[in-house]
Amino acid sequence: MPESPAKTDPFSAVVVLSGGMDSTTLLAHYAMLHYRLTAVTVDYGQRHRREIESARTIAGHYGAEHHVVDLSGIGVLLGGSALTDSEVGVPSGHYAEDSMRATVVPNRNAILANVAVGAAVARRAGVVALGMHAGDHFIYPDCRPAFVRALDELVQVANEGFPTPRVETPFITWSKTDIAKYGNRLGAPLDKSWSCYRGGERHCGTCGTCYERREAFRDAEVPDPTEYLDGVTEFAAP
Ligand SMILES: [Zn+2]
Repeated sequence: MPESPAKTDPFSAVVVLSGGMDSTTLLAHYAMLHYRLTAVTVDYGQRHRREIESARTIAGHYGAEHHVVDLSGIGVLLGGSALTDSEVGVPSGHYAEDSMRATVVPNRNAILANVAVGAAVARRAGVVALGMHAGDHFIYPDCRPAFVRALDELVQVANEGFPTPRVETPFITWSKTDIAKYGNRLGAPLDKSWSCYRGGERHCGTCGTCYERREAFRDAEVPDPTEYLDGVTEFAAP
């Protein structure tokens, strides 16, 4: 590969921060490594807009420069997903179920990642970081290693001659349980993170992502700081 003519700052990272526990732990990871942090949160018209507020709080916790990018207009074009289309209900149950396909947002990670990549190239950041993990692979094609490899290649090709960041996904082979354990160990503000796809005042506890969140804390054997609608933090199958 030809050498990039302009250098990046290797200790500057643009982190895609949704406000969930994976990206919260991701930000904690780069904070622990003393990176200069830029957190990017994309408003893509998601139903669970509550996560944007969480992202703001979490970025503030780490003193990260935070940008909420308004792509809310894209929501209507991404119809048919339970996360962007009010006509489609959010399914309950486990991620490894067919019903969870309703929560796939078309091309979401490619859209979010490329917003972060643009920001990284502009500010010569050495890293673009994404928080996907192995538990996502089953239903979300844009959370798989093949996607990350393709994205990394795209970044190089699309920005040839410019300072190109590398794409890092440190949790891609981890389980959600590993993330809960690690986030807890780093002292990440997981209590401030938001997962629920239903996006109410409190976590519903029964949608796919709440279910997964509960399971992760239980299996990690760390306290679950989440306030669930049913008032219990102990995991129970819906
Ligand atoms: Zn929920």
